[in-house]
Amino acid sequence: MESCLSVSEDSNMIVAVRVRPLNALECTRGQVTNVVQVNGNSNELTVQAGSSADSSAGVTHFFSYDQVYYSCDPERKNYACQAKVFEGTARPLIDTAFEGYNACLFAYGQTGSGKSYSMMGIEALDDAALDGGPPHDEAGIIPRFCHELFRRIEAVKRQEQLQVEVEVSYFEIYNEKIHDLLSVQHATAASGESTPVQQQLQRPALKVREHPIFGPYVVDLSAHSVDSYSALRNWLAVGNSQRATASTAMNDKSSRSHSIFNIVLNLTDLSSDDGLSSDTDSGTVSSLRQTRRSKISLVDLAGSERISVSGSNGERIREGVSINKSLLTLGKVIAALADSRKAGGNGPLGSGTPSTFVPYRESVLTWLLRENLGGNSKTVMLATISPASLHADETLATLRYACKAR
Ligand code: ADP
Repeated sequence: MESCLSVSEDSNMIVAVRVRPLNALECTRGQVTNVVQVNGNSNELTVQAGSSADSSAGVTHFFSYDQVYYSCDPERKNYACQAKVFEGTARPLIDTAFEGYNACLFAYGQTGSGKSYSMMGIEALDDAALDGGPPHDEAGIIPRFCHELFRRIEAVKRQEQLQVEVEVSYFEIYNEKIHDLLSVQHATAASGESTPVQQQLQRPALKVREHPIFGPYVVDLSAHSVDSYSALRNWLAVGNSQRATASTAMNDKSSRSHSIFNIVLNLTDLSSDDGLSSDTDSGTVSSLRQTRRSKISLVDLAGSERISVSGSNGERIREGVSINKSLLTLGKVIAALADSRKAGGNGPLGSGTPSTFVPYRESVLTWLLRENLGGNSKTVMLATISPASLHADETLATLRYACKAR
C-alpha cells in the first residue's frame, strides 16, 4: 500500500485536491468504476488502482493533503460545491492581498479533470455577473474571488480613507511563448469586429524582463484599470473569448497552454495629513503616504497528461516538451521553496537559503510567477482528479506531484 502524507506545516503553501464526478460518458461505459474514496469530511483519500490485467491490481494508495474536496455526489454530506472550494482555497487570499503580500493559486491536473470548471466555472451561466450581479452557483474561483475582492474594497473604503486601484491583465503561455488575451486588438475581436483568427495566432510573442523592484514582468502586456466587479468581469469575458477563439482554431489549444489572470491591488492610505513632504534643501516634494501593493495570480495550467510522442507531429512534440518542462520546473520550484522554508530560510522573494537553489528561470511560467511563489507569498495548489478507473494512472501521477510539492 502506497502512503503519501502531505499535510502542510508551512502556512504559506496549501495543497488541496478536488475530485470531480464521473461524467455521462464514463457512467455509460460499463467497465468504468469510481476508484477514489474520501472518508467523511476528512482530508484523506484512497485510490484503488490497477485493472485485473495489471500486476498492481487491488493496490490501495493512501493520500492526505491540507484539504480534500469531494465533488462527486451532491447527495453526499461531504459534497464540495463551487462555493465551498472557493471558501477554502481562495477566500483567504483576499486577506493576503489586503495585507500587501502576493499570492498565487493554480489548478493542476490532466485535461478533463476539472481545472477550468474549478477556476472559471460554467461561464455561460454567469451572464448576470456582466451586469455586476453576484456570481452564479456554477461560477468558479476567479469570478468569485473578483466579486469578493470588490465587496471587500467597498467595505474597507467605508471604514478607512483609502485610495484603491485595481488593475488586471490576462495572458497565456503556449510553447514557452506569451500571448496577451486582453490587448485592445483582441477586445475588438471579442466584440465581433474584424480581426482574423490567423492574424491573432501569428502575432508576435511578448518578452519577459526584470523590473528592479517588482521583478519579472511581460513587456508590452496590456493592463486595465477597473473600478467595479462588472468592469473586471467584462475584461475576463474578453480574455476567455479570445482564448476560446484561438483554441478552436488550433485544435483545443487551451488544454495545452497555461492561462494566467493577474490582479494587482494598490492601497494608498489617505489619512496621513496631505500626504506630501518637502525637502527644503533639494526643493523636492515626495509622497509620505503608505502604499501596499499586492499581485494575485490565478492560473489554469496546461493538462498534465503525458503527451504520447508516437505519431505526433513536430508541433505536438514541441508542445509536449514545453508543457513537461514548465510543470516539472513548477514542481521543482515549489519543492525547493518548501525545503528552504523547512530549513528556516525565507530569503527575499523566494531566493531561499543560500544553499537552496530555486530554478525559477528554467521555464517562462515559473520565472513570471517568481514574486508570487517565494518569500512571504501565499501559494495554493489545487490538484484536480477524475475518479474514473480509466484515468487511475494519471490520477496517481497528479496525486504524487501534489505530494512532492510539500
Ligand atoms: P480541464 O479544465 O481540467 O480540462 P474541465 O474543467 O473542462 O477540465 O472539466 C471537464 C468537464 O467536467 C466539464 O464538462 C466540466 O463542466 C465537468 N466538471 C469538472 N469538474 C466538475 C465538478 N466538480 N462538478 C461538475 N462537473 C465538473
